[in-house]
Amino acid sequence: MNICVIGTGYVGLVTGACLAEFGMNLICVDSDIRKIDLLRKGKVSIYEPGLEEVVAKNMREGRLRFSTSIEEGVRSSLVIFIAVGTPSNDDGSADLRAVEEVAKDIARIMDGYKVVVVKSTVPVGTCRKLKTLIQEHQMKPIPFDIVSNPEFQREGSAVEDFLRPDRVTIGAESEQAIAIMKDIYSALYLIETPFVITNWETAEMIKYAANAFLATKISFINEVANICDRVGADVTQVAKGIGLDSRIGNKFLQAGIGWGGSCFPKDVSALIHTADDYGYEAHLLKAAVSVNQRQRLIAVEKLQQVLKILKGKTVGLLGLTFKPDTDDMRDAPALNLIEHLNRLGTKVKAYDPIVSQSGMRHGLSGVMVETDPERLADGCDALVLVTDWKQFQNLDYEKMASLMNNPVMIDGRNFLDREKLQQAGFYYVGVGR
Ligand code: NAD
Repeated sequence: MNICVIGTGYVGLVTGACLAEFGMNLICVDSDIRKIDLLRKGKVSIYEPGLEEVVAKNMREGRLRFSTSIEEGVRSSLVIFIAVGTPSNDDGSADLRAVEEVAKDIARIMDGYKVVVVKSTVPVGTCRKLKTLIQEHQMKPIPFDIVSNPEFQREGSAVEDFLRPDRVTIGAESEQAIAIMKDIYSALYLIETPFVITNWETAEMIKYAANAFLATKISFINEVANICDRVGADVTQVAKGIGLDSRIGNKFLQAGIGWGGSCFPKDVSALIHTADDYGYEAHLLKAAVSVNQRQRLIAVEKLQQVLKILKGKTVGLLGLTFKPDTDDMRDAPALNLIEHLNRLGTKVKAYDPIVSQSGMRHGLSGVMVETDPERLADGCDALVLVTDWKQFQNLDYEKMASLMNNPVMIDGRNFLDREKLQQAGFYYVGVGR
């Protein structure tokens, strides 16, 4: 089957490469010429484990190609996935301009029956609106179907998540579109992946409800951690104790410096906004956001407790990306920390396994990005572990402590071995323990 994916960012590129891996013929389109030029040379501009290999293999085997021409993509494909960005507007609602732009282009170009699949995360009601929008912009009436097929991949394990998802959600109005979608994902039937086949609105809502639930779960454990800090309990043990309850589960119970990234903040805000539009105030979701806003500055509070005055001090951040195994800095907690510490007159340095080695470091302001952990430690009054990159568990902390003015470690992810750090000479502070 010939498939076009429009938007070759984190989601679109993984979708295109993995659908090619399922045996489909893929053309991936992006308006960013630089990105497409790199991809045509087999180079992936984002850091995502395993992605470059899947891209290279499928290009070599002739199932995956890249283009800047949406016209070429739409004309040569039966199914068109829309995977462009849907960032937040200032009021928290989702900015749908890119999705609508692409939908109008598809309408103008389509010359026969097409299935338009919305992969981007879009507010409830968008598929229904896109149907009208496409009808209004067609040159002549041509039948087409719209499908909502939200994506649940996690950056850092996106390829694995796409090839072995927990479930596939399909929202559609026509049997023909459902049959085509089942055909595309037939490889997943073999591994008994559950399929949720439903209407547009429900499929759109499943995506927002999943992200809102996960964000709320993190805010919940962070709230518990803050109480633990005051009463002398250890949140890591509390999380273990409640996570063993099968009704609760042990995932997403790691207390720390709050959630961030390109999805949770914007998706929770968009859901609150949608609820507002329908006259419903989403109290719980608003509380999850406000707990998170406070949590993202918990490291500053802890630094103040230890160092007292932050003005003139130097703080080193271990990690910059919003989570490990990605280069994504969108809405990363590190950015809040840098801004806040700068405002307090603190000098901020950072080391991140990906950012330190890439051109990304030049785009950051208010922080000096060092090339290795020891250079980071040199002259610091405290370190804050911001991202739980695996390699941070095995740094030479003794050496690092010896280079610091003040060997203080604020472990913002409760990720390091407290005893090991203490033996290395650090004054260790976790979150809620
Ligand atoms: P991204 O910014 O990495 O990629 C979007 C791509 O679309 C960019 O390469 C951009 O150049 C391209 N684009 C924009 N307008 C275009 C146009 N008119 N024609 C062609 N290309 C165009 O975004 P992303 O992180 O891949 O997210 C895409 C969507 O998927 C969003 O709705 C997001 O919420 C959702 N999502 C993201 C993740 C994730 O982990 N990043 C997970 C699940 C869902």
